[in-house]
Amino acid sequence: MNSLETQVVFYDTHAHLDYADYAADMEQVLARARAAGVSRIITIGTSLTSSARAIELSERHPEIYAAVAWHPNEADQAPEDIRPALAEMAKHPKVVAIGETGLDYFYLPSARGAGTAEDDLRHKKCQARLFAQHLEVAAEAGLNCVIHQRSALADVLSQLAPFEQKLRVVFHCFGENASVARQLLAKNWLMSFTGIATFKNAQSVREALASIPLQNLMLETDCPYLAPVPNRGKRCEPAFLVDTARVIAQVKQCSMAELATATRANAHEFFRKF
Ligand SMILES: [Zn+2]
Repeated sequence: MNSLETQVVFYDTHAHLDYADYAADMEQVLARARAAGVSRIITIGTSLTSSARAIELSERHPEIYAAVAWHPNEADQAPEDIRPALAEMAKHPKVVAIGETGLDYFYLPSARGAGTAEDDLRHKKCQARLFAQHLEVAAEAGLNCVIHQRSALADVLSQLAPFEQKLRVVFHCFGENASVARQLLAKNWLMSFTGIATFKNAQSVREALASIPLQNLMLETDCPYLAPVPNRGKRCEPAFLVDTARVIAQVKQCSMAELATATRANAHEFFRKF
């Protein structure tokens, strides 16, 4: 890394720092992020316990902010009505979004080898109810939403339709093609990119990226998952964001500084309490 590059400051807008993966070396992980120029990190809750841990982390570390939610993949374990608990958490000064929330039809019970078509249907209904509750809380609290979408685009869009005037969304870990990007851009929504953008086989993702204006882009690691090249397959951490940013800047044909300035501004506008 050259000395100029260390001046460039990025935000990791989607990390899972509350996971056990970081229990042993959190301080070093944060120190490496700082050294790499990653000055703020949003840690994303995936259940009420995980969201509470995310908030705790944000209280302990000035550079950490939190988003609170119950992940759609575990929708069947969520409380019947998550709204009161979420709404309470949303009041916290460092809770900057509701998420990740949405629909995932990729990891349904049958795909996990643990269910029938009927179980899949039940799980989908469960996810839809949970997603709707998150959107309601977000609109009420004046927060935007971090969307998890996998193999469920049409249903996500139809659930978002009634909220389009009330909140903005970012499609996190964007892995779709340019035609989907166009649909989301028509609503002026954001798309956030992970280490996938650096993967050799992700040409269609880079094509989508090339078509998205800088003002609709954000950067994330989704750590501990999806470590970018050259650390692909290893535990990911916020410092690795810079490797993703380098590829994204190449695809966008802009400098690292331009990319950093634009994506930080987008994050400030989107995560209003930032
Ligand atoms: Zn995530």
